[in-house]
Amino acid sequence: MEKRVRVRFAPSPTGGLHMGGVRTALFNYLFAKRHNGDFILRIEDTDQTRFVEGAEQYIVEALKWCGIAPNEGVGFGDGPHAPYRQSERKDSGIYRKYADQLIAGGHAYYAFDTSDELESMRKRLEAAKVAAPQYNAVTRQSMRNSLTLPEDEVKRLLDSGEKYVIRLKVPRNEEIRFHDIIRGWVVVNSSQVDDKVLLKSDGMPTYHLAHIVDDIEMQISHAVRGEEWLPSAPAHILVYRYLGLENDMPKLAHLPLILNPDGNGKISKRESRFPVFPLSWTDPRESAPFVGYKEAGYYPEAFVNILALLGWNPGNNQELFTVDEMAAIFDFERVNKSGAKFDPEKAKWFNQQYLRKKSDAELAEAFAPILKEKGFERDNAYLIEFCRLVKEKVQFVHEFWDHGKYIFIRPENFDEKVMTKKWNDTSKAFMHALAAQLNALVAWNTATITEAFHAVEATNGKGDMQLLRVLVTGAAGGPQLFDMLALMGKDEVTTRLNEALNQLK
Ligand code: GLU
Repeated sequence: MEKRVRVRFAPSPTGGLHMGGVRTALFNYLFAKRHNGDFILRIEDTDQTRFVEGAEQYIVEALKWCGIAPNEGVGFGDGPHAPYRQSERKDSGIYRKYADQLIAGGHAYYAFDTSDELESMRKRLEAAKVAAPQYNAVTRQSMRNSLTLPEDEVKRLLDSGEKYVIRLKVPRNEEIRFHDIIRGWVVVNSSQVDDKVLLKSDGMPTYHLAHIVDDIEMQISHAVRGEEWLPSAPAHILVYRYLGLENDMPKLAHLPLILNPDGNGKISKRESRFPVFPLSWTDPRESAPFVGYKEAGYYPEAFVNILALLGWNPGNNQELFTVDEMAAIFDFERVNKSGAKFDPEKAKWFNQQYLRKKSDAELAEAFAPILKEKGFERDNAYLIEFCRLVKEKVQFVHEFWDHGKYIFIRPENFDEKVMTKKWNDTSKAFMHALAAQLNALVAWNTATITEAFHAVEATNGKGDMQLLRVLVTGAAGGPQLFDMLALMGKDEVTTRLNEALNQLK
């Protein structure tokens, strides 16, 4: 029988969750949703040396902002497998129990080596030109562990409270085969795998042991994680095998890297061309905060849509997806194994598509505080019309200001190119006549303004709309001219036009 789909996102609170991590969470979420399964948030905090204050809370908030909420887990309500923080799960002795089982089966052993001893082993191997020095089937033989020391000495050391770690006993030369949904069959020789530490001297399990124990205990059906864990997977297979759990282990899926726009490496938080974090992240170890997608003006729906297509191929040309649409067809079989290049320009395009789906009233509401910050206030009807006029040009709400500020601020100078080309006696006469017509208007709207313009054309010949635009706003381009003038109001437009004509003579 197929197992119920239960997946987990299992970040370590070692820093802000970057977009690669959010994508891992998203793929888990989509998969669970597609199969009416469960999605769990587990915090893997067993490495206390890497613990970063605020990281866990950040992870929870970021998932909430993205709308990819787990059904169980830290920050999302306890389920049957609480607690969901590994540091708290440890107290039940669960990790120890599995480690002891491996020792009893002869598949793990105690290692008493001090850090100085490990260091001198490393130096020795480096001197002997060993490419990647590691604690393994060969080197363990010259180290201080329960495989080399006499039994009574081991007992004495354990009884006397000597510090030790528990290591996995990896065979010297054995083929390890496993299946990855994205990569197919993977074969690795055990000589490539080191005797990983499973339990540390402080009694904490390492990731390698803890995630296996928890995936089993939490009945996880699919372990979906970043490509960086692929090299450790053979060791994990051995642990499952030695625990007699190979048939119960989750199916594996290692997601491809997200590459920077040049395609020459994975994206880094030092990236300056685009945000890397979903929300702004203040790392206690850094002086300046990192700006997030949210603060850069992205909609969460757009951000999630962008992430989904980094590595997942929906199988057609569709680019815009709601979460429900994605979940209806999401599959790991359609996730590529090669790295996915991130295109920041395309990301902006995505946001623009989502912005265009918003109503003018929603846009106006979002823009009002930005405008206020710039020192201007307008009523709702004004802002709605403003957004309707300017929205074609913008990718982000804050860009309404960049693309429409001249509607609020009077011009200090006039587009030079247009003036040089178009300002002459004829056009000057036209604009004076137009100013008089506009001054005389009683009703002020797009239709009456258009009519006034045409009336002047009837006497003065063809008028130049771009020139009029420049005289009123200073800028050579912008939204539909007569609609814009209607919005600005008679007083504002005629005042500006008269001032321009006075100034330009
Ligand atoms: N705690 C691991 C990490 O950071 C999780 C890997 C996994 O999902 O198994 O990234």
